[in-house]
Amino acid sequence: RGSWVLGLWSSVLKGLAMVRTAVFSVAAVCLVLMFVGCQEAQQQEPDIVRVGDKVFQYVQTDTGRWLIHDMNRPTPDIITPGTESTQDTPGTAPSDAIVLFDGKDLDEWTDTKGQASKWVIQDGFMESVKGAGYIQTKRLFGSCQLHVEFATPSNVQGSSQGRGNSGVFLMNTYEVQVLDSYDNVTYADGQCGALYGRAVPLVNACRKPGQWQSFDIIFHRPTFKDGKVDRKATFTVFHNGVPIHNHVELQGGTGWRGPHAISDYEPHADALPIALQDHGNPVRYRNIW
Ligand code: MG
Repeated sequence: RGSWVLGLWSSVLKGLAMVRTAVFSVAAVCLVLMFVGCQEAQQQEPDIVRVGDKVFQYVQTDTGRWLIHDMNRPTPDIITPGTESTQDTPGTAPSDAIVLFDGKDLDEWTDTKGQASKWVIQDGFMESVKGAGYIQTKRLFGSCQLHVEFATPSNVQGSSQGRGNSGVFLMNTYEVQVLDSYDNVTYADGQCGALYGRAVPLVNACRKPGQWQSFDIIFHRPTFKDGKVDRKATFTVFHNGVPIHNHVELQGGTGWRGPHAISDYEPHADALPIALQDHGNPVRYRNIW
């Protein structure tokens, strides 16, 4: 949901500018350090004004300085929430979401070379094709909320990492593993919902092969400084509505570097495509926003 993301970050930036002005006027180095360390904080401690025995608390926000419970404070945009999916019918996206795939076409997607993808569309879903490579969004995203629905093959073949393997890649880099982990043993940090090689899901919430499942992902991108990671990425992930990662800080990359080794952070752009993996198994996707 790009608008949410853009709105959030522009708010944070505006808030930061005000915070800095206030801090510099105080000219206290320790305060500067404290605020730099809390750049993402949306709220600050309220200022307190006492008039007689009455207490008035004010908060400095991205939209100005407001009293607690101030009727004049701007309210959030009104949106229309989406509807839930069922096995037979995909739900709808919230009205402010960027719909990346509604089952009709691949207009928002390309292959890794910017050409038309060879993934196929049928009956309202897209399906990976062995050898077609990853499919990725034309739009670029950094921090975002992402909803994805997927189904591993009902015709179960293979085992461990060879069964229903695909993946959702944030920033073309950080993989939330898609795998048929229903009655399929594999290593814990590579099962369905794992932040591949980095974080084991809290529970195995997989549905049976062939059934539609969902990921709802809240991702905060990493930042880089002087060629090194400055702020690590975080993931909160719900699998079929069940929390499987609760604000997990990703300690490095999720790229395979051998049977028992994983990639490290490498600096990259602030916004990159969202990609879905072709791992040689036909995995289906629908309702992506
Ligand atoms: Mg994968």
